[in-house]
Amino acid sequence: MGPGFPIASDARLAGDSRQTRFVLDLDKAVPFRAFLLSDPYRVVVDLPQVSFHLPAGAGTSGRGLVKAFRYGLVMPGGSRIVFDLTGPVRIANSLVLDAANGQPPRLVLELEEIDEATFARAIGSGDRGSQLKPSLAETSPSAAFAATAGFPPAVRPPTTVAAAPAGPAAPPDPRPVVVIDPGHGGVDYGTQGGEIPEKNLVLSFGQALRDRLERAGKYRVIMTRDDDTFIPLGDRVRIAQKQSAALFVSIHADALPRGEGDAQGATIYTLSDKASDVEAERLAEAENRADMIAGVNLTEEPADVADILIDLARRETRTFSNRFARILMNDMKSSVHMHKRPLKSAGFRVLKAPDVPSVLVELGYVSNKGDMGNLVSDVWRSRTADAMARAIDAFLSKRVANAGGDRSDKPAPARPKP
Ligand code: ZN
Repeated sequence: MGPGFPIASDARLAGDSRQTRFVLDLDKAVPFRAFLLSDPYRVVVDLPQVSFHLPAGAGTSGRGLVKAFRYGLVMPGGSRIVFDLTGPVRIANSLVLDAANGQPPRLVLELEEIDEATFARAIGSGDRGSQLKPSLAETSPSAAFAATAGFPPAVRPPTTVAAAPAGPAAPPDPRPVVVIDPGHGGVDYGTQGGEIPEKNLVLSFGQALRDRLERAGKYRVIMTRDDDTFIPLGDRVRIAQKQSAALFVSIHADALPRGEGDAQGATIYTLSDKASDVEAERLAEAENRADMIAGVNLTEEPADVADILIDLARRETRTFSNRFARILMNDMKSSVHMHKRPLKSAGFRVLKAPDVPSVLVELGYVSNKGDMGNLVSDVWRSRTADAMARAIDAFLSKRVANAGGDRSDKPAPARPKP
């Protein structure tokens, strides 16, 4: 994070299961806004972009009404703190104190236990519908339920994620677009079974893969994120669709819950309505929780359009996704340790673009010592990125060749022939 952003240097929780107080030390006062979410019970605090320099482990354990909290960028210009709660609360007080009596400026949040019915009434009394739209900018809480501390509308951070400059003057680039999607980011850490959160591991890998592909120069490579920013799942899919991507590769790392044995190796996932096994189902559920973790509540995705062309496109796209997954597995297994069942499928929301072949790669298990060692190794990263780049070449060269005359400018969009 660049200079000039306010710095948060410490955070404390005090109180008990009736009343809990959160205090964040800052180097200057900032406006903020706090609001509540249910299912599960959470408090979200939105701030302008802040550099968090909190002690290691801050937020991993809770106190009183707070089970744990996470913090980080939720979009460029905007930071967020998300508190997981033990039950329904109300925000009894929320304020920013100026420096006084040798204390730095502080953000203070006071939570009080309330009963479920009161909570439900309060959250139901506002314009909940508009609160639950997918866009982060629209997660504004109902007026009745928000606690605002000098958060002027002008401070609201920008709403859109600029995936690439899209100026009308830009000359068209005929190369196929490969979208690399490092999972999680910002306030969503991903799995934390290892000493480094998943969001950092997968960003490093995504950047290595991008650099590898860009060196060869055959594709236009777009990252859904190139820094520690949270991107909602739907936005990741939309980036791929807007760019008419030839391929979408989501990068993740997995962890087995403590006490559930050990597993290791890379796994490649494709989309399916029914999970290939229980473990794949658990993983898809965990990965699909990203938006919820970041405090973004979503309405259900719009019902699938009953359009035979879209349906055909979707089926064709799935065929291509599965083909790429097999090519990728073959290229990876020669140089990377794979999971004993390396090809699986489940209902990952991030793989749902009907017209973009999409796979999700779990690079390994942070809960496994060997895999964790690999994930932080430059040598392993570049070997794995090489294998993935070979697979991408094999897949896309075939598609371009098959696309034929009138489509030579595009790598065979996944649409049925007229
Ligand atoms: Zn993940």
